[in-house]
Amino acid sequence: MKLHQAKLQHSFFDTFKHRGDLHLSQVSPSGLQQPVLVSANRQLANELGLDPDCLDSEAFLQLMAGHITGEHFNPIALVYSGHQFGVWAGQLGDGRAITLGELPVNAPSDASGKPILWDIQLKGAGTTPYSRFADGRAVLRSSIREYLCSEAMHNLGIATTRALALVDSQTQVYREEVESGATVCRVAQSHIRFGSFEHFHYRNQPEAVKALADYVIQRNFPEWQNEDNKYRLMLENCVLKTAKMIAQWQAVGFNHGVMNTDNMSIIGDTIDYGPFGFFDSYDPEHICNHSDTQGRYSFKNQPSVGLWNLNALATALTSLISNSDLVSALKQYEPEYLNQYRTIMASKIGLEQYQSDDENLINQLLELLQINKVDYTIFFRSLADFSTNNIDIRDQFIDREGFDSWAEKYRIRIAQQKLSAQQRKQRMNAVNPKYVLRNYMAQAAIEAAAQGDYSEVNLLLSILQSPYDEHPQAQKYAGPPPDWADQLAVSCSS
Ligand code: AMP
Ligand code: MG
Repeated sequence: MKLHQAKLQHSFFDTFKHRGDLHLSQVSPSGLQQPVLVSANRQLANELGLDPDCLDSEAFLQLMAGHITGEHFNPIALVYSGHQFGVWAGQLGDGRAITLGELPVNAPSDASGKPILWDIQLKGAGTTPYSRFADGRAVLRSSIREYLCSEAMHNLGIATTRALALVDSQTQVYREEVESGATVCRVAQSHIRFGSFEHFHYRNQPEAVKALADYVIQRNFPEWQNEDNKYRLMLENCVLKTAKMIAQWQAVGFNHGVMNTDNMSIIGDTIDYGPFGFFDSYDPEHICNHSDTQGRYSFKNQPSVGLWNLNALATALTSLISNSDLVSALKQYEPEYLNQYRTIMASKIGLEQYQSDDENLINQLLELLQINKVDYTIFFRSLADFSTNNIDIRDQFIDREGFDSWAEKYRIRIAQQKLSAQQRKQRMNAVNPKYVLRNYMAQAAIEAAAQGDYSEVNLLLSILQSPYDEHPQAQKYAGPPPDWADQLAVSCSS
């Protein structure tokens, strides 16, 4: 199937068109000038059943650049509001995201036999009625970051929106300076945000909240359509998925940076990659967003902000769910978060099962990593060689005795398991990535792309698509970051 000829569905449009522009607006994308394909994601294309040859075609490029022809596309922008940095901000978007339609993909494992619908969305293809005073564009720099990071997250096993293609152009976009306009084709099973529900709740339109919830359930959770408590099930699912997603962020060292309620997905995907960052050394105080002066969205705050945001979602659903059900759904967040986090952290140090004493072992290790400024990703990867190569592990610490005393407890703990050193290593290498998208790596790809060289983007895509494997051709990205990486600052201006 070729995307530019695919029969897209328009379930969102069909569901809401009779309500005027309450939920959406029809829009005309404004395409990029002299577009060039930076990268097409063959792994995702394959999952979507797209013909790989079509990715190299001119028609695909023009479509991805926002030049939309053909009657099966019906570009729309979805409306939503949200809380930004804890403050109600009113209507926010979609200011620069345009959904072309939904691609039906047959899921062999799905017993219902119904295809799964994937939104095909372009980010950066011009203004919408919700753009406010902005230009509807995305710059190449931030588009490269979103494109690479969403695929990195997916391949780390973390729920996320995906990215199918990245296009550069001669369209000039004005930020602090003139930059190249770009588009990312974002693909997801839902683009409905917590803020989509808040939008109608705060406008006192409970029937519109209900229509949106009904849409989400019939599209994403058809098995609950006839349940009396289907809205509660939708919320509970969101609570559990969000708890798991954030536990995975914490375990891999990912800082989202802009956890506003408009950047939280109702299906629990990581969405809206802006000033995100993976930290180098373990640092709970890490703030990746240069504009976040108070540190509201710092690394250590992410789990509690997740719950704050779910509270905001629950508030927006008060017309559909009883108070006691809202409370009981929200109460599931903390135990689920802790359960997921502990399980993942135990597996990162090679434990088959988390036991309550392991909390001390894990916390002591994190403290040592922090005090000694040890590189988080490199350390966990190297720990797989514990007992065969302890020197290289120990040498990462300034306080070697501190490490030795932890290592003694660790040695006793792993001796309680039946795993051989080789088996433990294999399991650890499957959960501790060799590669994450550090800021300086994205920056290297951005600088090369600004010179018209897209090879670094594609090299990074290929290694991040199998982050647990060794990639001899990308050895330069397996070590600690260079000194200049410290100077990189990322803000919201994208
Ligand atoms: P963000 O902080 O990226 O989540 O953006 C908040 C809202 O502003 C979203 O609805 C975006 O669509 C919108 N927005 C951000 N940048 C632009 C832009 N250049 N043009 C139009 N809307 C934008
Ligand atoms: Mg956003």
